[in-house]
Amino acid sequence: MDITTVFGTVVPGSSPGGSTTFSIFMPQIQEINSINIPKEVRMALAVLQNASFEAFLVGGCVRDLFLGVKPNDWDITTTATPEEIIELFPKTFYENNYGTVGIVTCGEELGTICSDESVKIVEVTPYRLESDYSDNRHPDAVSWSKNIEDDLSRRDFTVNAIAYNPATGEVIDPFEGIKDIKDRLIKCVGSADKRFNEDALRLMRAIRLASQLDFDIDAVTRESIEKNANLLVNVSRERVRDEFTKLIMTDFPMRGLSLMKETELLEYVVPELLEGVGIEQNQAHSFDVWEHNLRTLQHSADKKWPLHVRLSAIFHDISKPETRRYSKEKNDYTFYGHDVVGGRVARQIMERLRFPKELTEKVSMFVRWHMFFSDTEQITISAVRRLITNVGKENIWDLINLRICDRIGTGRPKEEPYRLRMYESMVEQALQDPVTLKMLKTNGKRIMDVTRETPGPKVGYALHALFDEVLEDPSKNEEKYLNNRAIELMKLSIEELKKKADLGKQGMEEKNVEQVKKIRSKFKVK
Ligand code: ATP
Ligand code: MG
Repeated sequence: MDITTVFGTVVPGSSPGGSTTFSIFMPQIQEINSINIPKEVRMALAVLQNASFEAFLVGGCVRDLFLGVKPNDWDITTTATPEEIIELFPKTFYENNYGTVGIVTCGEELGTICSDESVKIVEVTPYRLESDYSDNRHPDAVSWSKNIEDDLSRRDFTVNAIAYNPATGEVIDPFEGIKDIKDRLIKCVGSADKRFNEDALRLMRAIRLASQLDFDIDAVTRESIEKNANLLVNVSRERVRDEFTKLIMTDFPMRGLSLMKETELLEYVVPELLEGVGIEQNQAHSFDVWEHNLRTLQHSADKKWPLHVRLSAIFHDISKPETRRYSKEKNDYTFYGHDVVGGRVARQIMERLRFPKELTEKVSMFVRWHMFFSDTEQITISAVRRLITNVGKENIWDLINLRICDRIGTGRPKEEPYRLRMYESMVEQALQDPVTLKMLKTNGKRIMDVTRETPGPKVGYALHALFDEVLEDPSKNEEKYLNNRAIELMKLSIEELKKKADLGKQGMEEKNVEQVKKIRSKFKVK
């Protein structure tokens, strides 16, 4: 049976076996369709259950199944110990202190040899009990339990503390996580203060999940985040970076960062962003620097741009507060140099958060160049070429995408006005090679070799004349033909040869004009 109506077997507060049946109509959340659970995950559960162990799907994947969202990863919890899990599966790895065994699978049969692309890892963890946490991050000790509720009670949020057995449709939900999924609420399992003190990374997880799922944070949980925000200093920069990255990559990063500001968590992650709060800009802007950075980021998320574009978006005006000056002459604020200073500040922030070097350099470079001059009425193609040299061919379109986000972030409605499209067409033009004599499969030296002609205008004429023929018929661009044809052309008088060469020159010019025209029309500009 593929469709499992889980609501018929919700068991609040009971362990597997004794099921209380009640049916509720919950239109906001999905029935779990087992088809959405990959075969290898179901097989891994079956292997454990056939060996008489209890085994459930648990955590984020169950939450996502209820929401009808594709889970990121699959977690199984079981009564088997790590040793027993390893014995049951041919290919596993076990390299942590918390009992989680990774099972390597790839579809058909568990443990079969996998190609790199088909490899999937399902994480299997024994029901776990945790001791005190004296470092605000790791339990001092863990032990295995035979009771699923022990395992669910150590989990962070109610929506993440539901266990589900696809084989029977049984759901264990002692903390009413299904109700919170329905109410779209992130709420701690048990005492919020206690849970955040145990593991301060949960502070970030709460906000990241709220922005990933578009959920609210329960009032008590939220108050507790504010109260305990300072505990984040006890969490390693790498873990904070990972959660920050996940938040930036959600569909609603603007919401996530606003929540981080309101709960004061942002103080402990990127305090530099807070300096933009209340920093009024010049007349071109409707928002303060903080909100403008956020809106720029949000547009990059709306466009589903990758991490480096999103980080460049949130940091692009990071140094506006420190470079703002009032200009009497302009009767307005100026921000000269905020791009140069900003490139450095973005690098410092990302180094502090232990982002990889390559990503850090890339984002710093985008922030540095985000102010490129793009007034197409004044700009020349060589200025566009210089910008491409500065940022690299591979980055130029991302830089333009960043500029579009920046524009939308100021509150202007139109994504690509005429001037921007014109600029884009100039970039494409600069990226394309112009039509030149270099495209010929011969050159002046070869012509002199085969015709025994000495250097002089006839050699250039012959090249242009050959070019004219190749433009007419590209199949003639072939060494043997060109050699023979050069010998014939040299027999012509200089006047006759020049006439042919002029046709070639004209043809080349027309070809280049045509190429630019094509590019302009592709971008709908003239
Ligand atoms: P994602 O959608 O990013 O996968 P997730 O909730 O599944 O979100 P994971 O990091 O995959 O997050 O963790 C899987 C499960 O493990 C969580 O749903 C939760 O039950 C539990 N968990 C993870 N991190 C913590 C933590 N710091 N404290 C308590 N429980 C946690
Ligand atoms: Mg997960």
